Amino acid sequence: MSDKPISKSRRDAVKVMLGTAAAIPMINLVGFGTARASAPANAVAADDPTAVALKYNQDATKSERVAAARPGAPAEEQHCATCQFMLADQGEGDWKGCSLFPGKLINVNGWCSSWTLKAG
Ligand code: SF4
Repeated sequence: MSDKPISKSRRDAVKVMLGTAAAIPMINLVGFGTARASAPANAVAADDPTAVALKYNQDATKSERVAAARPGAPAEEQHCATCQFMLADQGEGDWKGCSLFPGKLINVNGWCSSWTLKAG
C-alpha cells in the first residue's frame, strides 16, 4: 500500500459512497411501506361492473358523494367506514368487506351511491 496521503477528492468520493450505502436500506424501507399500503388482490377494481353501476371509488373525496349525498350525515362524512353495509370483521387495515361486493374488499375511505348511515 502506498504511503501517500489520501487526497481530499478521494476522501470526498469515499464519503459519498458511504452515504449512498447508508441510504439504500432507507430507500428499501420506503418502498416496502408503499407496497404494504397498496390494494389487496381481491380489492374491488375500478372496472368491476357493480363498482361502475354504484359509482364506487376507493377514495370518497374523488367520488360523486357530494352531488349524490344521502340523508343521515354531511357529505364529507359519507364513506365506507360509516356505511351500514361495510363488514368490519372481513379484511384487514383499510380494506374491509362489503355486503354489496361479496368476496371482495372495499377501502374504508371509499364511497358508493348505496352508502347508508350505519346504525348506532
Ligand atoms: S355499500 Fe357502503 S361500504 Fe359498500 S362500497 Fe358502498 S359505501 Fe362502501
